[in-house]
Amino acid sequence: MNSTAQWQARDARHHLHSFTDPGLILEQGSRIIVRGEGSHVWDSDGRKILDGMAGLWCVNIGYGRTELSDAAKAQMDRLPYYNNHFQSAVPAMIELAERLAGLTPAGLDHFTFANSGSEANDVIVRLARYYWKLLGKPGKRTIISRTLAYHGSTVAGVSLGGMPAMHGMDNGTLPEFAHVEHPHWYVNGGDLAPADYGLKAARAIEEKILELGPDNVAAFIAEPVQGAGGVIVPPETYWPEVQRICRAYDVLLIADEVICGFGRTGAWFGSQTFGIEPDFMPMAKGISSGYLPIAAVALHDRIFDVIAKGGLWPHGYTYSGHPVSCAVALANIEIIAGEGLVERVRDDIGPYFQASLQALADRHPLVGERRGVGLMAALQLVRDKATRTVCTMEDNAAILTREACYADGLIARAVGQSMVLSPPLVITRGEVDELMEILTRALDGTARTLGLM
Ligand code: PMP
Repeated sequence: MNSTAQWQARDARHHLHSFTDPGLILEQGSRIIVRGEGSHVWDSDGRKILDGMAGLWCVNIGYGRTELSDAAKAQMDRLPYYNNHFQSAVPAMIELAERLAGLTPAGLDHFTFANSGSEANDVIVRLARYYWKLLGKPGKRTIISRTLAYHGSTVAGVSLGGMPAMHGMDNGTLPEFAHVEHPHWYVNGGDLAPADYGLKAARAIEEKILELGPDNVAAFIAEPVQGAGGVIVPPETYWPEVQRICRAYDVLLIADEVICGFGRTGAWFGSQTFGIEPDFMPMAKGISSGYLPIAAVALHDRIFDVIAKGGLWPHGYTYSGHPVSCAVALANIEIIAGEGLVERVRDDIGPYFQASLQALADRHPLVGERRGVGLMAALQLVRDKATRTVCTMEDNAAILTREACYADGLIARAVGQSMVLSPPLVITRGEVDELMEILTRALDGTARTLGLM
């Protein structure tokens, strides 16, 4: 048996951590998580911690579901691997594609599989450009995305994303990627009413299309609710206007469902919550509740028809539609459907969670805005609610709050000057209350440190 200190020393010696200050890993040691059950995980000291982030927006059905390990073993024993390329396909993949087609918005009936959300978005860049090439418009290549977006860590994923730190590190993006402002009214809206700001943010896409020339723009990509950027729910006017603009200029619409999909917004897909009709829908994370790596790309029939007529589609990930991952994804989808988790998020636990956070936001001096839908939410940390003055980097408010939450038994995420919470879909009301108590204590502590309480 290793002690926590031993695990931490071994981890620090051999593992390159990402998104974390290496100094912190050496100084404090990493968090060693060893077990999970329901909405909780246990660390190497035996401490029980409420997982307010569902791993990383993954574990929708909660930890410890043996139905998934049973499905994995059965498939592994029957056929652990075969490829889904060339002339072959495995039944588990065929069944999964069929099941997904029954859940996606109308017309999104065809699928290609990948191992991660990043890979899914990577292949969409190729498919979108190939589609236009086959239609005789090879100039339509640029993909428009948004600031603060996160769509993956491959080279194309980083270029699609709008994270300044990632662009800075790689000396910018690849050519033929462009960005417009993310639609966060509280921070960017100024004096505009949210509805007017929603239209303005959507029309920034139109301006960018006109600036680049519609004949050069292949697609626009966005999450229904921007997740890793801080759970940014756009004003109601935004999505209908985006949809109109994409249609008007023949720009394909990619709705990234990697976080929003599989119940998190209170529908199977965030696109359904917001009435979006995408051409491509990448999905990952919740598709298997993170139990095994798998991602899928849904293609609209009108895209598939063109690609299929193009002859050979030269693409192939060795593990795409891996039989064991597909079997696990199917078992996961059966649990979400069988236990009515999507409806539960829409009608019961989602509204309870959002109302609890709103009540806290209404009375807490450090919280300027609660935003969210279903079981994804964020609290914007502010210095002054009246003037919508958000905390600064120097305040370090979100990180202080995150650390206090963890010390008190709750995993929350600090994103910029916001606290992000997205627990498993199986979280109980009692566990939401537990989350709120810990979060409130942590925010109180930070507010006192900043002299706001
Ligand atoms: N798209 C979105 C919206 C994501 O949040 C993520 C991961 N956080 C990705 C794509 C990339 O997925 P993966 O980490 O599985 O490559």
